[in-house]
Amino acid sequence: MSMDLSIPRHWRRKGPLYRLEAAKCKECGKTHYPPTASCPYCGSKLLERVQLPRVGVLESYTIVYSPPEGARQESPVIVGLINLGGVRVVAEMTDVDPGELSTGMKVEAVLRRVREDGEAGVIYYAVKFRPLLEAGRSGEGQTAEPR
Ligand SMILES: [Zn+2]
Repeated sequence: MSMDLSIPRHWRRKGPLYRLEAAKCKECGKTHYPPTASCPYCGSKLLERVQLPRVGVLESYTIVYSPPEGARQESPVIVGLINLGGVRVVAEMTDVDPGELSTGMKVEAVLRRVREDGEAGVIYYAVKFRPLLEAGRSGEGQTAEPR
């Protein structure tokens, strides 16, 4: 899987992204996220939806100090490569200072408002990840509420 950093494109996707739904290929057995119409590994269209765990491990991250224009409140932007039960997901990190990040730390998915289109009255949300704070608290089955 190539590391796709085009997060604005992901913003336009809806339900499956929020629910952390991935697609598992019935032919080669590999899972990819976000789900697409055909397997990026073998091209098969025999895919089934699977739910990724909401808690994973931060494998690596990139800090972007000059984010693209467009109502960015958070700067710098931290983009993490997160391993969710064996599936690698690229997503923005939130609720964390760059200095607090370390590879191998546990992170959990949360839903965050990313921007608001005042004229259209549309609010966009995206899945982001934050450090798993409370010990013993599992993200399994939790609903990530927008704030
Ligand atoms: Zn495949």
